[in-house]
Amino acid sequence: MDIEKIRSEFPILRRTIYKHPLVYLDNTATSQTPNRVVESVVNSYTKTKSNVHRGVHTLSMEATELQESARRKVREFINAASIEEVIFTRGTTESINLVAASYGGAFLQDGDEIILSTMEHHSNIVPWQLLQRTKDIKIRVIPINAIGELDLNAYRSLFNEHTRFVSVCHASNVLGTINPIKEIIAEAHAHNVPVLIDGAQAAPHLKIDVQDLDADFYAFSAHKMYGPSGVGVLYGKKKLLEAMPPYQGGGEMIESVSFEKTTFAELPFKFEAGTPDFIGIAALHQAIDFIESLGIEQIAAHEHELLEYTTRRMLEEIPDMRIFGTAPDKCAIISFLVGNEHHYDMGMLLDKLGIAVRTGHHCAQPLMNALGVEGTVRASFAVYNTIEECDMFLTALHRVAEMLR
Ligand code: PMP
Repeated sequence: MDIEKIRSEFPILRRTIYKHPLVYLDNTATSQTPNRVVESVVNSYTKTKSNVHRGVHTLSMEATELQESARRKVREFINAASIEEVIFTRGTTESINLVAASYGGAFLQDGDEIILSTMEHHSNIVPWQLLQRTKDIKIRVIPINAIGELDLNAYRSLFNEHTRFVSVCHASNVLGTINPIKEIIAEAHAHNVPVLIDGAQAAPHLKIDVQDLDADFYAFSAHKMYGPSGVGVLYGKKKLLEAMPPYQGGGEMIESVSFEKTTFAELPFKFEAGTPDFIGIAALHQAIDFIESLGIEQIAAHEHELLEYTTRRMLEEIPDMRIFGTAPDKCAIISFLVGNEHHYDMGMLLDKLGIAVRTGHHCAQPLMNALGVEGTVRASFAVYNTIEECDMFLTALHRVAEMLR
């Protein structure tokens, strides 16, 4: 892969921070956006902006076609069986809230149990807790082992006659661990239990085939995969989506409305109330094209090289380095602490040297509790990062660790 050519598509990477070249290692939080995605947004605003699915005029038909061709692209990207199974949302968070509220609201009852994991992002915990306000549902939690993998034996032992739903992440945003979700799904299905996969951290790095995985629901966000902010996807199996009640009411999601009786639109529109972010959705198409033009396996291989190189040097060179999450199968995410130094101080000082990393609990406080820390520093890589940037990060890390010592 010609990384310099790839980088030239990302003008933001030419920025300097405190007179240092920007080294952007906060890709887990959001990735940067290539020109073709930005151009799609500009083109929409300057050439085709019109509300979708409502007009007979040319602009409206063009805007609708841009949105619907993005839906076809997403279907192909995740190998969904039909476009009716591809619902556009605001992001992973909204996708999970949709399932918790709609599926959970309709099909979970008092006394039921659901299974989550220790490594879930708050967006795969809190929506289920909101459901607990109206239903007496028990949340059972899969523990992790010392290297940050899910304990699958413990997972199997959590099932009982009350288990009704499983919701776990494909990859952890803190540990990087890639979970064996095919196995996790198969186990749940053996108990007749449907599974939602939070794919926020997987979609930018891993080939997703929802039919091969046999996932019932799969959620992800465009902004983490070189796409625009404000757009996400919920994949759901058609028979489940058809059985579920609408999540929000409004325009676009109805067939007919009267004060006496309202009927709902067919899938996927039943779950897309109101004007969607049709401009962002069209831009997501370009983000997927970008990923496909490079090849997701090639992207992952490059990121893995950066991960291995940086992890090895961090452990060899920085005294008292602790890395959280060392599973053999992991995404290019390094969560770490140096001695007893505060993650926030490290992040602030690294920023002064041009290095953008994330600090804190990463919206995974239960995981932080399990790790026995309040927060970590997290460096995470994308396709445009280079070995030279890893070197700059390591040099900066040496300096910061020494300063704090
Ligand atoms: N799940 C995981 C694993 C994540 O990393 C994130 C984002 N940090 C989310 C869910 C939420 O994604 P969004 O904020 O785009 O809805």
